[in-house]
This record gives sequence, structure tokens and C-alpha cells, in this order.
Amino acid sequence: MNCGDRIIIVGGGPAGASLAIRLARLGFKVDLFEERRFPRHKLCGEFISPECVRHFAQLGLLDRIEGAGGARLRRTVFYSSRGRSFVVPSAWFGGHAWGLSRARLDDLLLDQARRAGAEIHAETRVTGLIEEDGRIVGVIARNAVGTQQLSAELIVDATGRRRALARKFERSRTNASRRAPSLVAFKTHLRGARPSNETCEIYLYRCGYGGLSPVEDGLCNLCFIVAAHEVRAHGGDADALLRRIVCTNARAAKTLRDARAVLPWSSASIERFGRMKLAPAPNLLAVGDAASFIDPFTGSGLLLALESGETLAHAIETNWRSAGAWDELKGDYARRYEARFGRRLHWCAAFRRFAFAPQRAIEAGAMLLAASERALRHVAQATRARRAR
Ligand SMILES: Cc1cc2nc3c(=O)[nH]c(=O)nc-3n(C[C@H](O)[C@H](O)[C@H](O)COP(=O)(O)OP(=O)(O)OC[C@H]3O[C@@H](n4cnc5c(N)ncnc54)[C@H](O)[C@@H]3O)c2cc1C
Repeated sequence: MNCGDRIIIVGGGPAGASLAIRLARLGFKVDLFEERRFPRHKLCGEFISPECVRHFAQLGLLDRIEGAGGARLRRTVFYSSRGRSFVVPSAWFGGHAWGLSRARLDDLLLDQARRAGAEIHAETRVTGLIEEDGRIVGVIARNAVGTQQLSAELIVDATGRRRALARKFERSRTNASRRAPSLVAFKTHLRGARPSNETCEIYLYRCGYGGLSPVEDGLCNLCFIVAAHEVRAHGGDADALLRRIVCTNARAAKTLRDARAVLPWSSASIERFGRMKLAPAPNLLAVGDAASFIDPFTGSGLLLALESGETLAHAIETNWRSAGAWDELKGDYARRYEARFGRRLHWCAAFRRFAFAPQRAIEAGAMLLAASERALRHVAQATRARRAR
């Protein structure tokens, strides 16, 4: 294969769109499939970590993102149920963070992919994989016009936590069924919420946590996670969960008292965190959440999506010059991925136990972190990684 040949990316979120920009610039023919019509709202805390700025600059998007009306976020404050708090300054990660809706962010990224030369198949869902001798050689896609098949030597699953392509392959091999979700996330935009100035606030409560973060147009994003059994007990009613669970946190009850939702609630189940398969099938690689889902309290899922897109682009640039380079590419991507993200994913799994620990343990942990800036800085920086190629 030479770099004029086709690579198919499925999923137009930050991982897929940023990878498409990078590969199109390297001279690859990129076809990207996205099932939704953009701009679209997306369930997310919409906290954009400061390190993303470097990626936006590389992707040629920094001016447009800075001009998109997002809020500057200089700190994140974590509040325990009883009101203990500790502060993580955004400057620890290299500057200020942004609060910007995914509707705007993802639309800008996908538009940039189109400008870079990627062919965008919008509102087109990939419904199947084409297999030949055990290798994936193309996709079947459907939109309002009909069904089409497209071949490629390399296919990338950038479908987020759904891992739509990886799951299709796994299901064709085993009777693997979906796990029952243990957590459910909810999101809306609020008017009238009152977080501190330039601050993302995180509220810890029984069996979950939520984040309130200013975004554009004077609105705040509220995104919270609760245990699935609580969702069932409340009949899936997001307002009831907000009042009876999230607002058991004293700070949340105060900042959200006069808030009203200006978007319908969206919800999504969370089946698992952490690592998935990087190469679910021959010629199929995963990137972004489809490769690893990092805990939302780190505010770094978008960063991981952009960084893993960068890592995969480097691995493809280095290895994918001739047909049959699959083993080299797969091995190189795995090595780079481990070097860049292994430690971070390991620590996040450990901190997750704290986020879902019994209330007393959370109160004690919050007291320790509030008392020692050094320890807190260590913890915060363990959720990020050194730069690597
Ligand atoms: C509750 C919660 C809060 C979060 N808060 C934050 C936060 O504040 N900050 C942060 O940095 N990260 C946060 N994250 C993580 C962040 O949302 C993800 O890490 C990020 O969206 C991953 O990007 P992605 O491109 O891998 O996947 P996605 O953004 O999920 O994009 C996948 C795309 O694939 C498309 N797609 C799926 N299936 C198909 C198909 N079959 N055919 C075609 N298209 C398809 C989808 O429509 C979607 O556009 C949060 C996550 C959750 C669950």
C-alpha cells in the first residue's frame, strides 16, 4: 500500500475527526463515516483540558476554537457531600481549560477534516464489516439514500464507547452479549446555575459524581453519573435523580437551586472503564474511547481522544507504507500506546475506587487532599501523561 491508498475511519467525534485531519495531511485517502447530523449535542462534561490547545494548534483549529465563545476555566473544585473541598488549578496542566459545547467543538473538528481533504460520509451509519480470509477489508454503510460497500486495507473504529465495529467482529466470533450497565450518565445545559467564577465544580455523592461547568452563551453544562439501580428506582427520571441524589451534596444544592434546563436531558449507560482491544481484528484498529475509556472526573477523555489520534497517525505514518505491514503497524501502535497511556490508565483505575467509595472514605480522602497540595498535585498529574510519539 502507498499513502495514496484508502483508510476508512468510522466515527466523527474528536478521535475520528482529528485522526482524519492528520492522515489526510500525510497524503492518505481518508473516508470518514458519521451517523449523526452535525452539529449535535453529545453527552459529556464539556471540560476541555488545557493540553488540548497544542492539538488544536497542530490541527489548524486554535483560532476557530478560541473564537467559538467558550468559557475560560481556571480551576476545578471537588466538593464532598459535606462540603469539604480541594482545588485543582488548570495551570497544573499548562494554562486555562475551556468549557465549550460538544455541538460546537465536534462540528469544528469535523469541518476541519473535510477541509483537510477527508471525504466525510455524513448521516451514514456503518452497519457491517466485510471480511475476507479472516481480515476486515471494508464496511457496509447505510444512509437515507441506500446501502453502499466501501473497501479499504485499513479500518479504524472511532465509534466511542459503543465500539460498534469491534463489537460486530466479536459478536460474529462469539456469543458475546452486552454487559449490564452499572452506571448511567445524564447531561443537560442549564441557565441560572451559580458555580464560582471561571470554575468547573465536581460534586461527589453516594454512588456517583457530577460536574457543573460554564460553557458558551452564559449556560452551564451539568453532567452527572449515578448507579444504574438508583436510576431504575427513580424510573429513569433525571430531575428526580438530580434533586434526590446529586443535591444531597450541599454545594450542588446551593449552586443548582435556581437553575433550569434549556436542553432536554440526554442519558447514556456506562458499561466499563479502562482499556479495550487496540486491534480487535486483522486490519481493524481502535482509537479514542473505542480503545480506552478514561474516567470522566479526570476531565481528560477529549484529550485522550486527540492524543490517541496523534499516536495512531504516527504509527500509520511510520509503518503503513506497503500492503502486508499489518503486524508491524499493530505492534508499533500497541507499544506507543502503552508508553503514552499505560501509566495514566493504571492510576485512573485506582482513583476510581476513591470516587465510588463509601461516604466516610471520601470525606477522609477529601480532607487529606485539601491539606496537602503536593499530594493533590501528584494525583492530578498521574491522570495525564508525558508527551510521546
Ligand atoms: C458522563 C461523561 C462525562 C464526560 N465528561 C468529559 C469532560 O468533561 N471532558 C473530557 O475531556 N471528556 C469527557 N468525557 C469523555 C469524552 O466524552 C470522550 O472521551 C470523547 O467523546 C471520546 O471521543 P471519541 O471520538 O473517541 O468518541 P465519541 O465522541 O463518542 O464519537 C464517536 C462518534 O462515532 C459515531 N458513531 C458511532 N457508531 C457509528 C456507526 N456505526 N457509524 C457511523 N458513526 C458512528 C457517533 O455518532 C459519534 O459521533 C465524558 C464522558 C462521559 C461518559
